[in-house]
Parts: sequence; C-alpha cells; structure tokens
Amino acid sequence: MIDLRSDTVTRPSPAMRAAMADAEVGDDVWGDDPTVKALEARVADLLGKEAALFVTSGTQGNLCAVMAHCGRGDSFLVGLRAHTYHYEAGGAAVLGSVQPHPLPLLDNGQFDLDQLADSITPDDPHFAPIRLLCIENTHNGMALPLAYHKQVVDFAAEHDLSLHLDGARLWNASTELEVTPREVADGFDTVSVCLSKGLGAPVGSVLAGPRELIDRANRVRKMLGGAMRQSGIVAAAGLYALDHHLHRLADDHRNAERLAAGLAGLPGVEVQGRQTNMVFADLGAAADAMGEAAAANDMLLAIWGRESRMVTHLDVSANDIDTVLSVLADAAGRA
Ligand SMILES: *Cc1c(COP(=O)(O)O)cnc(C)c1O
Repeated sequence: MIDLRSDTVTRPSPAMRAAMADAEVGDDVWGDDPTVKALEARVADLLGKEAALFVTSGTQGNLCAVMAHCGRGDSFLVGLRAHTYHYEAGGAAVLGSVQPHPLPLLDNGQFDLDQLADSITPDDPHFAPIRLLCIENTHNGMALPLAYHKQVVDFAAEHDLSLHLDGARLWNASTELEVTPREVADGFDTVSVCLSKGLGAPVGSVLAGPRELIDRANRVRKMLGGAMRQSGIVAAAGLYALDHHLHRLADDHRNAERLAAGLAGLPGVEVQGRQTNMVFADLGAAADAMGEAAAANDMLLAIWGRESRMVTHLDVSANDIDTVLSVLADAAGRA
C-alpha cells in the first residue's frame, strides 16, 4: 500500500513501538510522568521557549493557546483559510467565547500587512478587544520566509498583540528554509507543533511558550478533557520521532520533487507546485482513469475532480514514487 493522501497516515515503526513499550511512566496529571516531562523539555528547548505542554492534537494545542491568550469577549486575527479558523470546528468561538477575526491571505500564504493594520480597532466599547495574532507555517505546505515572520513580529509589537504560531508542520518549514526550529519559532509567544504528521508519531502535539501561558494552557487542557495519565507511552513515540525522524524530512521534500518532476512529464498533467512535502497538480482529463488505476494498484491518492494534493512521508520511498508514476503514466497513456 502506497498512501499519498497525507503525512498523517504513517504507522509507528517496530522501533518506535519498542520505545513506547519501554517508556517509564507515571500519572502525568500528578506531574509524575518522566517521559512526558522529557518530551516537553525537549520541545521547549528545540523551540527556544521556557516551557511546553503535551497535548492530544494540533487542534487542542491551538485552542489551548487561543484560550490562554484571550478571555471571553476578546478577539484574535487569523487567516481565513488558516487551520485555527477554518478547520477546528469553531472551537475558539464555541468553547472559548473568543471571537475570531478572519482575514484572507495572499496567494503566498501571507497576510496583506496594510489590511491587517486596517483591521486593528480602537479601544471603544463597540469592539471586541483584539488580543492575539495567529499565523501558520507551513501554510498549505508553503514554507513562509523568516523575513515575513519578522514583519509579523514587528506588527504585533507595534499593536500590543500576542503572537501564536501554528507550526503543525514547523519541522518541514525549518527543513525547507534550512534554519533551526528555534529560528522559525523566534519572536512568537506560543508555538504549537505536531508529532503525528511528518515526524510519524501515532498521537500528539506540543504547545510551547512562557511558563505563565503554559500554566494557563494546562488548565484549559484539563477543561477540554486533554489531561492524560500514563501518557509517557505516547510521549515516548514523540521523543523517538524527534531523535530519528526529524533529520530525514529532507528526504520527503526530495521525494516530493521527484514526484512533481515525474508528474510534469505526463500528458495533460499540470503541476501547480511542489511545496515542502506536498505536490499540487491538475491531473487533466485522465484524472478519473488515474484514480482508478491507483486504487487498483493498492495506492491511495486524494483527487477532487481533476485536482490532486499528494503528500510524501516516512512510509513512502523514492521507489514508491517511481511505482506511482509508472501506474499514473500508464493510465494517462490509455485515457
Ligand atoms: C494538521 C494541522 C493542525 C491540527 O492537527 P490535528 O492534530 O489534526 O488536530 C493544525 N494546524 C495545521 C496547519 C495543520 O496542518
């Protein structure tokens, strides 16, 4: 089975499972789990933050962050297609009573800074006070440049806003930009990262930031039902992933390049771009035939009409890419 639908589909390797089985654990709600503590310290250090909190998912990490930064009746600025606004079931509004203030992002995944400035409201009882600005990197697979981070950090300082980075795939951004994770996280108050995407852990995300905010996020996590007991079993997978899978993300990006180059050579296919570990393509008139051929050959692809997003990850090798390309080429030739 070759599954290019997402990098969330990876399965823990035997070595990762062994690390999980061997994990030293305790009751983390009592502060007793050494493996969870080790993971939190490790991620805090990697991101250059004072403290960190192990959470169940990226969605929970972002919600804990929004609710740690904002109180009932506050507002936050966020991209219209950003995960924290569009793909988290409205959690900030529903559970936090925090009003999102979404703004469209430019094609390059960035805010229009003039539009951002125009949306700042004065201190007036008509307006929900804007407390927080959220950005994400990568966005839609795109690694946003650190020069943009600097603009956002300066903007937040000028307008006295807190800053949260949704870094679900921060590891891919850091790999693509050839900078450290700490450099990507620099200037943000809080940063959330996923362990269960390209890093290949079965479960978990981490929220990092200053001790005071992480303590507040810890109370929110409890409220959301995310306080876990012997969670060192899953934290061990995260530690294993950081030790063994962080440095191989460049392979995923190279495999995505290989896939993009191969697809570009197929008749009728238009590759829109390769962004970190993702390839976006219009498969053309043969899209249906390609989807059927893939399914018949034990391959899973995400195709909507003619459009496809294919994602590489640690369970996909360069050979697998060649296998997929030959099946698709065959289907394109016959269609
Ligand atoms: C996947 C993702 C999340 C959340 O991840 P879950 O663990 O699925 O809740 C958050 N933000 C971005 C940008 C993501 O891609």
